[in-house]
Amino acid sequence: MANVLITGGAGFLGSHLCDRFISNGDTVFCMDNFLTGTADNITHLMGHPRFNFIEYDVTNFIHVGEDLDYILHFASPASPIDYLKYPIQTLKVGSLGTHKALGLAKAKGARFLIASTSEVYGDPLEHPQKEEYWGNVNPVGIRGVYDEAKRFAEAMTMAYHRYHNVDTRILRIFNTYGPRMRVNDGRAIPNFIKQALANQPMTVYGDGTQTRSVCYVDDLVEGIYRLLMSDENMPVNIGNPDEITMLDLAQEIKDITGSSSEIIFEDLPSDDPKVRQPDASKAKNLLGWEAKVSRRVGLEKTILDFSQRLSVNN
Ligand code: UDP
Repeated sequence: MANVLITGGAGFLGSHLCDRFISNGDTVFCMDNFLTGTADNITHLMGHPRFNFIEYDVTNFIHVGEDLDYILHFASPASPIDYLKYPIQTLKVGSLGTHKALGLAKAKGARFLIASTSEVYGDPLEHPQKEEYWGNVNPVGIRGVYDEAKRFAEAMTMAYHRYHNVDTRILRIFNTYGPRMRVNDGRAIPNFIKQALANQPMTVYGDGTQTRSVCYVDDLVEGIYRLLMSDENMPVNIGNPDEITMLDLAQEIKDITGSSSEIIFEDLPSDDPKVRQPDASKAKNLLGWEAKVSRRVGLEKTILDFSQRLSVNN
């Protein structure tokens, strides 16, 4: 059984990964400084004999006494409102944090996986986005702190792979949703669900014609696991190609919740990508992976989770 370090392990994706490795029978070291992660996401794992929590900021030198087989670097703010609130931390965890996590992987002889992002493609001029596309990123825009940190993280990962022979994987995550997303995360799905459940206005930014392609978290976790176990060192998109406009997404969530919310339009944030859809053929050919959970089913599960958490907190 493996020893696995997950940075950002108390975050939305990190905590689902902790669950996956614990259920495999592996030993998990979950590291988080709770900047955007929350203890609630891992409460159910606390006290488990193979689960270890370390409260730590991974932009500093990382020490782990035990041997490590896998390091998954998931620590980072990941919502546009977080980049605005924590721009320096976002840059630091993608750059300094990736450097520290790679240094640890080298010292331990561990396989390293970086959580990169579709944001490396920026506001894409190619559609759908293949791994070979280099992207269209504004380095000095409000999203630049995230996009450039992740692009740097990919470059640093390849440098450690090429010059230090670290066994590395680069995962490009497209929009993902599911239980445990923060209610006040600020991204489209959490906002729409929170607003719909409260029968409050649902805020579509711009005219709502911009698209995203949303993947349910269980599908994503399966893709991550398969990529980690593969021998592919170059980037792989993991995402659901099922593309939808933000206006249709808001309407769908309104319908599923039976909400009486009205849909209102607010200013589009700057540099907001107009379209986004993964070309997921590499993941399919290489890993035999494709998203299985339909948007309807995924949204229903997520809405149930949100309504339970909101009723506990009220
Ligand atoms: N969006 C929206 N209403 C909201 C939050 C987001 O219309 O309350 C839009 C946002 O402008 C973007 C899309 O939804 O076009 C996805 O935004 P999100 O923050 O979820 O993620 P992104 O893919 O932009 O990082």
